[in-house]
Amino acid sequence: MTLRRLSRSGSMRRLTARAGIVLIVLILLVAFRMVQEIGPERTPSDRFTVVRVLDGDTVELLGGDKLRLLGVDTPERDEQLYDRATDFLERLVLGKQVRLEYGGARRDRYGRLLAFAYVDTILVNRAILENGLGYLYVFDDSPIDSPEFASMLAAQRSAIDRGLGLMGLDREPEPYYVASQSSFRFHRPGCRSADNYSPERWRRFGSREEALREGLSPCRSCRP
Ligand SMILES: [Zn+2]
Repeated sequence: MTLRRLSRSGSMRRLTARAGIVLIVLILLVAFRMVQEIGPERTPSDRFTVVRVLDGDTVELLGGDKLRLLGVDTPERDEQLYDRATDFLERLVLGKQVRLEYGGARRDRYGRLLAFAYVDTILVNRAILENGLGYLYVFDDSPIDSPEFASMLAAQRSAIDRGLGLMGLDREPEPYYVASQSSFRFHRPGCRSADNYSPERWRRFGSREEALREGLSPCRSCRP
């Protein structure tokens, strides 16, 4: 064997070794991703443990994911009943295992999981509405034909009937309220967000309860 051939076969061996290392690294990466995806907190039935309650409709799950309860909107920090709504959710889910059911997109634009959550057989999203601690909150892509949404609307109506939580708060009333035909929010007549609505496409409601019964939720800006 000449010197030249020797050195060539030596570099071949180095190449083969390098390719082997790259392959092993790739295999390890794929294996790691698989473990991540079907780790203890991502079982096929989507059961998660709640480790922290962030407000009345958002929690943190073991593993770091945040969950935003689908179809519910609870008071913000500066609004009435914020503490009560947060305490209620804490008592219901903190430290417990929740089973998630998805209805459409699994995550919202902030990367949070978006789902119906069950503790045993209790639909948490519904329990919040039943106690008047949040409003039904529908988007264009919400699964409004699902049985969950039907039962959540019924729960909201029952909270209105009983004047519970948010449904019993005194608010400055308007002679009427408006919404556009295609929107799930309703407004005070003077709201700037409602200015863009052409009047012939307005829906008018005699009271806020009437709009809430239809499954509309209050505008975040004029807070009717
Ligand atoms: Zn408004």
